[in-house]
Amino acid sequence: MSGRLQNRVALITGAGGGIGLESSILFAQEGAHVLLVDIKLEAAEKGAALIKERYPNVSAIALKADVGKEEDVKAAVDKAIKEFGRLDVMFNNAGIMHPEDDNALNTEEKIWDLTMQINLKGVWWGCKYAITAMRQNPTDETKGLHAGGSIINTASFVAVRGAATPQLAYTASKGAVLAMTRELAMVHAREGIRINSLCPGPLKTPLLMDFLNTQEKRDRRLVHLPMGRFGEAVELARAALFLASDDSSYVTGTDFLVDGGLSNAYVTAL
Ligand code: NAD
Repeated sequence: MSGRLQNRVALITGAGGGIGLESSILFAQEGAHVLLVDIKLEAAEKGAALIKERYPNVSAIALKADVGKEEDVKAAVDKAIKEFGRLDVMFNNAGIMHPEDDNALNTEEKIWDLTMQINLKGVWWGCKYAITAMRQNPTDETKGLHAGGSIINTASFVAVRGAATPQLAYTASKGAVLAMTRELAMVHAREGIRINSLCPGPLKTPLLMDFLNTQEKRDRRLVHLPMGRFGEAVELARAALFLASDDSSYVTGTDFLVDGGLSNAYVTAL
């Protein structure tokens, strides 16, 4: 254990699968106590059990919460403080990509609103309660703990690139996460609270693979990927660890693209 998050407390939303689960495991491996939050309690509990088995020196707690409800987000942050006394890392990662999300003409308002509720308001509330908690973080040099903290908001490469396979509400929500994160980072920089966006490229997680359910749909994307493959959730977890830890102590307000080069591509190799 190299301990890049030794004694830190991390709250991760969407921790039941994909990026959130891999990050929970990696953060625990690096010494963090983790609160795994997901709308699917069983999935979060499985993750917590796995962490406890592998890393008995850290605590892992599962909590059911819907990030689309402000009271749930507040309760999750309160739980972290009650159990661990502080909050060092808030990873606002939960998000949805609704199957009925489409172009401007076909997307129903209820799909738009639901997407914004979870993907954008959920992140706003996560920031709001995390900032409040991080302002209270006691410094303890003997344990390597300091005031402030790190907030990571999951956006997406679609926040910076257009796609002719539209999911308008999703794309708009992620663009808003990017803009909101940048501004929050400026507002809270002098409080020692760093706030960054993580922009994944297309990944082999259920969120995307359930949607790309035919080879034809997958090939439509693969041709645009410089590396010729989808990313893995653990590759995003490693980037999240960098943003969570003091390795990124001079990084705030960034749009951290982890997309295999996609956002800089014109013609890809055959
Ligand atoms: P995933 O579907 O594998 O995991 C998402 C988790 O979030 C699930 O466990 C789910 O139960 C949980 N969740 C969904 N709605 C929730 C809610 N309202 N409250 C709490 N938890 C909820 O997805 P993933 O690929 O790991 O995606 C994580 C984040 O990365 C999302 O914000 C997503 O938009 C973003 N992202 C993913 C990709 C990709 O290709 N997979 C690309 C860019 C961005």
